[in-house]
Amino acid sequence: MTNSEPIVLDALVLGGGFGGIHMLHQLREMGLTVVALEAGTGVGGAWYWNRYPGARCDIESLVYCYSFSPIIDDEWSWTERYATQPEIVRYINFVCDRLDLRKDICFNSRLVKATFDEEAGFWTLHTENGDVYRARHFVSSAGPISEPIWPDIPGREKFKGEIYHTAKWPQQEPDFRGKRVGVIGTGSSGTQLIPLVAEQAKHLTVFVRTPNFYANANNRPLTDSDQAWWMQNRTRIRERLRTSEIVGSGDVFMNEEMLATRLRKGDEYSENERREILEKRWQFGGATMPRAFVDILTNHELNDEISGFLRAKIAHIIKDPATAEIMTPRNIYFGTKRICVGTNFYETFNRPNVTAVGVKKTPIERFSEKGLVVDGKEHEFDVIICASGFDALTGALTVIDIHGVDGKTIKDVWSKGSDTYLGIGVAGFPNLHLIGGPGSPSVLVNVVMANEYQVGWISRRIKYMRDHGLTRVDVDPDYQAKWSQTVKDVIQGTVLVSADSWYVGTNVPGKAKGILAYAGGMVNYKQACDAAAERKYEGFVFS
Ligand code: NAP
Repeated sequence: MTNSEPIVLDALVLGGGFGGIHMLHQLREMGLTVVALEAGTGVGGAWYWNRYPGARCDIESLVYCYSFSPIIDDEWSWTERYATQPEIVRYINFVCDRLDLRKDICFNSRLVKATFDEEAGFWTLHTENGDVYRARHFVSSAGPISEPIWPDIPGREKFKGEIYHTAKWPQQEPDFRGKRVGVIGTGSSGTQLIPLVAEQAKHLTVFVRTPNFYANANNRPLTDSDQAWWMQNRTRIRERLRTSEIVGSGDVFMNEEMLATRLRKGDEYSENERREILEKRWQFGGATMPRAFVDILTNHELNDEISGFLRAKIAHIIKDPATAEIMTPRNIYFGTKRICVGTNFYETFNRPNVTAVGVKKTPIERFSEKGLVVDGKEHEFDVIICASGFDALTGALTVIDIHGVDGKTIKDVWSKGSDTYLGIGVAGFPNLHLIGGPGSPSVLVNVVMANEYQVGWISRRIKYMRDHGLTRVDVDPDYQAKWSQTVKDVIQGTVLVSADSWYVGTNVPGKAKGILAYAGGMVNYKQACDAAAERKYEGFVFS
């Protein structure tokens, strides 16, 4: 059913993931009329869509969840160190039920157009199915890694077999038994999916262009004593994460000795001590290696040493030297791509039914009716899976026709770089508030915790506007330019400058190259946002 009469709201929230449903709750608590739009048929955001086999969070479940509600905290317990996609979706559903949020979420509602009406000071928002909303505030929590991209290979429509993208996985699980399967992509998604598909497929061929660095998750069930320990320590650990970033994505259970190295430089240890530290982290598992020492991204020699350590692991695990070489990252610095975390990934390449094909020097030429053509040779498949990634941080918004003042579109404004102020506002787009957007720490930190902070900050600003009778907030372009410069400056001297990855947009043809997220850490980011708020939201222009 479509609704041609606009539904008038105080706020419209885009997205039914972690950030969106929290924002919906927060604004509703403040007494605003608010609706959340979600394109899927259920909540979960990225976790709703990325339901491929093996999908699992690479941040520990105990800290990849909300901390704002003691009720949720007390009533939910995670079953594994790293939660599976189904468990995360169950959690988000539980939160929605517990806070009675579902009644204000419109499912199957893909936002296609949003226009700021300068005269009225309202956003007019259109969904694909014809619904129209008028909202004073437009809060986007569309997700930093939610707009999938297909591989830039011609002829996809010619392939006659089954074809899937990991981020658009069908509700009905495909059956790979007895089938010849090809996988394009060995980032986080491919890394998680490949071992499970290999167990089913008759034969699996993995096309590897730029092998990334990888760590074993070392996943395990959470025991009763883990749960009891967490209940006692969660406040302390969360506080540590909020104030010092000492507990990161995979190290909730790390002892003080292991945690301490991340505050020290590599050369504070001997070569043997460094190797021991890395070995301990390798055994401990998870995305803990990038934070083994404080200067991994700035000290090129140290970075090379860690790369060498991880390359030796590959050579040790993968039995066939030619396959090991295809899987070995060369000519990229450790940390310029997000480390992949999985289970039995390298071991999978020792299976007799799995082949790796290197496609760096000889790229995949095209899809054919029967499969993929590489170096003139046709590889035939029943199924092709594209684990080819996302148009990160900006893609979920540039895909929507968003018009700010003077008819400017967000797509045009971001065509030369994804400028924002504090990652929260964009000059010329009044009353648009971003969660997890470009210029914020977003995917470079624990995104759920970063979202929680931004939800709080945005809510307080909306309250400030209400309390002061203000109806319009825009960004001062000078402040935006300064913040964008800060975002660029933060990575100077780090290996991220030389990166080629979704972190800097080079995975999307035609996208401006530049660091998309603020790499200065959550503590510095909060200081900047809190300071602006204390100075009556300095850098924002109200009317
Ligand atoms: P990704 O890291 O961007 O990986 C895409 C892969 O596809 C790369 O290996 C890329 O090779 C390859 N590719 C793309 N086009 C190709 C082509 N034409 N020919 C050959 N190879 C091609 O994407 P992702 O794996 O979906 O992960 C993206 C991010 O999502 C992750 O870094 C992570 O932040 C998040 N994620 C998280 C989890 C988790 O929490 N566990 C799971 C999945 C995803 P090149 O490198 O050469 O371009």
